Amino acid sequence: MKVRVSGIAKTIGIAVFCAFAAGAALAQSDYVAPGSDLDVPLDQYLKDAGPDARLIKPGKLSIDRHRMLCGRRPTVMDPKFDSWGGAYPGYVILNPDRLKELPTPVKLFIYAHECGHQFVGRNETAADCFGVKRGRRYGWLDEKGLDQVCEFISKLKASAQHEAGPERCKKIRICYKEAAPRATRSGSNTQ
Ligand SMILES: [Zn+2]
Repeated sequence: MKVRVSGIAKTIGIAVFCAFAAGAALAQSDYVAPGSDLDVPLDQYLKDAGPDARLIKPGKLSIDRHRMLCGRRPTVMDPKFDSWGGAYPGYVILNPDRLKELPTPVKLFIYAHECGHQFVGRNETAADCFGVKRGRRYGWLDEKGLDQVCEFISKLKASAQHEAGPERCKKIRICYKEAAPRATRSGSNTQ
């Protein structure tokens, strides 16, 4: 991944956003060591990424016919991005080439996870939880989709930011339950 290192960016990144940046992505390869965490402005990202990257305005992102939103934040489709997705302050990155072979719920989860970083910072567990809860509440994640998400993340290796897959999976199942409609939650022990 192309990351610019400058003294100014470092200071701003740490002070303002704690630069969840590349550490936000799902794969170990996206990890940027502490101290090199940076906020990469969108213009800069697009310039560095070159002509293959495409900017999608907020409200215009459609993943397998699901319209996906992350507030007013745009998405960069970058086939060269070194993971399925990532997040920098103010925008989400997706790699369309890596996403295309995944089941729809997993694609949507990845987007929602990266979106989650916009709200929870670089905490991976919290971003997972955000993604799953959003999926259940918005109606694109059911039990079968949750299994597919679990299967996907179970294959990922643990990294400095991410727990091992099975542990992540256990936690997202709890988050999924917590996002159950109120009536379901209070009315049954099986939920
Ligand atoms: Zn993440």
